[in-house]
Amino acid sequence: MQPNVAAAKEALSHLDIEQSQAAIRAKSRDFFWYSPVLKARLDHVEADFVVSPRSEAEVIEVLRTCYAHDVPVTTRGAGTGNYGQAMPLAGGCVMHLHHMNAVQEIAPGRVVTQPGILLKDLDAATKAHSGQELRMFSSTWATATIGGFIAGGSGGVGSCTWGSLRDLGNIIRLRVVTMEEEPRVLEFRGEELARVSHAYGTNGIITEIEVPLAPAYDWVEMFLTARDFMQAARFAEGLANLDGVLIKLATVFEAPIAKDYFQRVAPHVEAEDNVIGLMVAPQSMDGFLTFLSRNPGVEMIYRNDDHDWARGPGAVFEYGWNHTTLRALKVDPSITYLQVRYGFPEHLPLIEKMRDALSPEVLQHLEVLRENGKVMFAGLSLVKFTTEERLDEIVKMHEDAGAMIFNPHRYTLEEGGRQSVDDRQLSFKREADPKGLLNPGKMIAWDDPSFGFDEMYAYPKMQAAE
Ligand code: FAD
Repeated sequence: MQPNVAAAKEALSHLDIEQSQAAIRAKSRDFFWYSPVLKARLDHVEADFVVSPRSEAEVIEVLRTCYAHDVPVTTRGAGTGNYGQAMPLAGGCVMHLHHMNAVQEIAPGRVVTQPGILLKDLDAATKAHSGQELRMFSSTWATATIGGFIAGGSGGVGSCTWGSLRDLGNIIRLRVVTMEEEPRVLEFRGEELARVSHAYGTNGIITEIEVPLAPAYDWVEMFLTARDFMQAARFAEGLANLDGVLIKLATVFEAPIAKDYFQRVAPHVEAEDNVIGLMVAPQSMDGFLTFLSRNPGVEMIYRNDDHDWARGPGAVFEYGWNHTTLRALKVDPSITYLQVRYGFPEHLPLIEKMRDALSPEVLQHLEVLRENGKVMFAGLSLVKFTTEERLDEIVKMHEDAGAMIFNPHRYTLEEGGRQSVDDRQLSFKREADPKGLLNPGKMIAWDDPSFGFDEMYAYPKMQAAE
């Protein structure tokens, strides 16, 4: 199967095709460079061409044409993913969905939208229409698309109350186009959603999305400090467990993350301060302040609706989730990170154990996460990178202790996920992408079903570095 890129590009030349080589390179990249491991392996990867369809009909045309000419297609939302998800490993076509940004319907409790709209624009539309907002969004709210969030993300701001994207009820319906001689348009609900959500666009292109909404609030955003790290973690957990207090974010940063990496917060904290970032609904502030008063040792240093900081910190959620890593990286380029699941009920002892074993080489950054009604933590730990071997050792220490790692230093679905094949995604790929042209190299089960996960997977058809 030899791709005929020139023929595909020619056949699509009446669509919006990127002409500038610099733009093609830029649109072939995402935030893979967060990982020194991926940076070393993917830096050279580049698409042959970039096309931006304006409608589902044009998506179908791109897929039909690339299928006919055996050209790989990697879909791009905004390219903010950081597992190399949107990198076209085998070159070919990058299909950029930024024109497909129309909100189609807003109703009580739900919105129907095209995939290429930015999360912030979708949120603004639902607020303006009926005082509703997205239940959860990636901390890249300002720059990422809803389609990319569903195909590549996991959860984020709001997950402390609503759980993760994969939890039932957090996606209502997806409309999906297949990569066949004559692409089909399918509608997925219920069990079928797992076929394509968080599948990196390896087995279908999402062209319409229906997600639930919640009432919108002017969230009170705060920073708190605590000298004792475990007290800060227990405080965040306790707050999330208050049934009558509505929160959208509860983040814990081990000292000295805030002092060293949060430039606008640094003047207001000491190196010894562990910091808690919060979003609390305004009607819950009385309950929250009562809870705070029951926790001597935890101090509020900032609230967005009443503060005397000469220079405000900006949105508190843009310190949380993977923005913590971004801020640290800007100050110290040797920082990288891990994604850890500290599952209930062992979450707090596990966190303490990993911190005792690894701090300050690994600094704890925790996000409160609700899973099956239980409050627990996701860790997006900051790691001082030295070597790949040491990084692998740190990963193994977590796994041996019982903390699951979603390894952000791997570009495949399986290695960045639960290290196992998702049969629903694989069997849908067999049906929907028989030539294996969608985002190639990201699903090990497709390329090498006998892979043993004892070393990092290396996609054999990866574009060669020049
Ligand atoms: P892209 O990066 O363009 O795409 C992501 C994946 O989805 C790719 O595999 C792409 O091929 C595929 N894709 C995109 N659109 C479609 C479509 N319509 N159909 C099929 N496949 C498609 N992630 C979180 O989950 N939570 C966070 O809080 C979070 N915080 C982040 C903070 C920072 C600073 C950074 C750099 C990343 C963060 N991420 C987070 C990762 C990423 O930003 C999110 O997952 C984001 O929502 C991805 O959206 P995007 O539009 O940039 O997608």
